[in-house]
Amino acid sequence: MIFGLLKQRRRRRMRTQPFPKDWLRTIERDVPFFLRLSAEDQVELLGHIQVFLSEERFEGCGGLELTDEMRVIIAAQACLLLLHRKTDYFPRLLTILVYPSTYLVEDKRQVEGLVWKEGTTPRLGETGRQLGSMVIAWDAAKSGAADSSDGKNLVLHEFAHQLDYENYAADGAPAFETREQQLSWGEVMRTEFASLRAADEIGIPTLLDTYGATNPAEFFAVSTEAFFERPCALRAQHPKLYRELQRYFLQDPIEYSAERMKTN
Ligand SMILES: [Zn+2]
Repeated sequence: MIFGLLKQRRRRRMRTQPFPKDWLRTIERDVPFFLRLSAEDQVELLGHIQVFLSEERFEGCGGLELTDEMRVIIAAQACLLLLHRKTDYFPRLLTILVYPSTYLVEDKRQVEGLVWKEGTTPRLGETGRQLGSMVIAWDAAKSGAADSSDGKNLVLHEFAHQLDYENYAADGAPAFETREQQLSWGEVMRTEFASLRAADEIGIPTLLDTYGATNPAEFFAVSTEAFFERPCALRAQHPKLYRELQRYFLQDPIEYSAERMKTN
């Protein structure tokens, strides 16, 4: 309890500290959504970034020399998920490992029935509930920030998984304020997940990346990418899904979307 109060106080102090000028320049240059946010949201985001960077541990891997610029670009995207909400800043995450680029992982894949194939698969990032860590490929984090309307964003994807873990499960349902919201989320997600799976099986093109058909946790992560990057298309094609995401994230990305500016 006391620890909680001290933590709150420390975070409040971090949020109100002057934001380093060179960090701000990096954000304005490399994270284009920032300039489209309202003035209040910009201030709130910068505050979250200060807390985030003071609490999260980063490690450069695969020969990568980590710079403040890299940490700031990753933080700015991750903290977009925190705007307007009561947050404990990704409490299940202990370390963010940053690789220069796509990295290879040894894995075993089921090809058919009992046939398994061993090999290496390139990956951009991953995080796990038990792991306490997250792996991010720096080039993908940077290009994800540069193009904020292609529907893909590695950092939003991986940090959405962390939100999912806040209530100790990796089930595609983060923690909700009310039971009513939890029920309505569950219902909408089940239906949307099933229809993505069906479309994937038949091979119909979908707005949502079919990687989301893997399981409900990936569905939430992929939907989060679409919500922030293709909000107009998502609202038009999946209005119920959009509404649930909007209720959870307490924001409407259409208001600051590059997608809207393209179509108008
Ligand atoms: Zn994922």
